Amino acid sequence: MTGDGRTAPIAPRDDLALREGYHSPQVDVEVRLNTNESPFGPPAGFIETLGRELAAVEWNRYPDRSANALRADIGALHGVDASQVFVANGSNEVLQTVLLTYGGPGRSAAVFEPTYALHSHLARITGTSVVTGEREADFSLEVDAVRAFVDDHDPNIVFLCSPNNPTGRTESRGVVEAMAADTGRLTIVDEAYGQFADRSALDLVSDDRPFVVSRTFSKTWALAGARLGYLIAPAWLVTELSKVVLPYHLDAAKQIAGRVALRFGDEMAARVAALREERGRLVGRLADLDVDVTPSDANFVLFRPRQVAADEVWRRLVEASVLVRNCASWPRLEGCLRVTVGTEAEDDRFLDALEEILRA
Ligand SMILES: *Cc1c(COP(=O)(O)O)cnc(C)c1O
Repeated sequence: MTGDGRTAPIAPRDDLALREGYHSPQVDVEVRLNTNESPFGPPAGFIETLGRELAAVEWNRYPDRSANALRADIGALHGVDASQVFVANGSNEVLQTVLLTYGGPGRSAAVFEPTYALHSHLARITGTSVVTGEREADFSLEVDAVRAFVDDHDPNIVFLCSPNNPTGRTESRGVVEAMAADTGRLTIVDEAYGQFADRSALDLVSDDRPFVVSRTFSKTWALAGARLGYLIAPAWLVTELSKVVLPYHLDAAKQIAGRVALRFGDEMAARVAALREERGRLVGRLADLDVDVTPSDANFVLFRPRQVAADEVWRRLVEASVLVRNCASWPRLEGCLRVTVGTEAEDDRFLDALEEILRA
């Protein structure tokens, strides 16, 4: 359909028919706790330095096509060579590039629901078929179950998400190690929230296996507006991704923003530590309310009101000018809502409103 209701003169690809675009409803409210952004802006020193460095950009020239300096800086952060780092416009574009390179028609990707909706969405729009496994009742993964599922369906790509969005826990080390050892397929561990957790899969990246870990500047680095993500992988795999991604896909401003951000690692770590502490306080207060709470290693918490319907709670929170994510219609998450850890003041606004709604 066109905007005015007429039939469009050309239809999209048949395999895209009926696909909904991915979107997170945005409502104009005072307290936004729905997309797991950092509640803190980047440090003032970052803004000042960035402004100075942007003033020196030669805008008439194409940027460094392979973003060598940025990749070297990210590599230094993780103790790997620049050749093992692939960067793109948000980790979503990183994942899309992996799927364009290693997925596509005739190939498949495995996801374990409930998990980040973009993994299966990106698989489908790149023509990759999706095989859907299930998490355990507590949303964890068990080695034997994952092994059996993978043997059964033989996917080319396996998605893990650690901590898993929207449920919150890191994947078990046993599962991650089992998939890293399975060199017959490509395993992606999405660590968008990695710095909020105690455990990472980065140490399992090795030249002899198709195993990659993706990260982003959107959450811990307080830079969702910059759209910058990356993955750490064997150098040969990064070479293949670079052949697929568009030339000059990473603009000059973003390359600089990423490099400047990395100079403020201590400030970033302090923000992460503050949010982890605030997560403990938020979970503690939620535990006193009439809701079931899922433990979290990330900067968000999944919870399920016991007596009041999630849709009703969501709507009344919006009336109180607090926006959380309504997960009630997602697979296996009936009745669930997800709240991002905000500042203490924001979380109190949320908690006070929720308490009021559940009491009535
Ligand atoms: C937020 C999020 C991302 C980040 O996407 P960007 O494109 O880097 O902003 C990736 N994976 C998961 C699981 C997320 O929740």
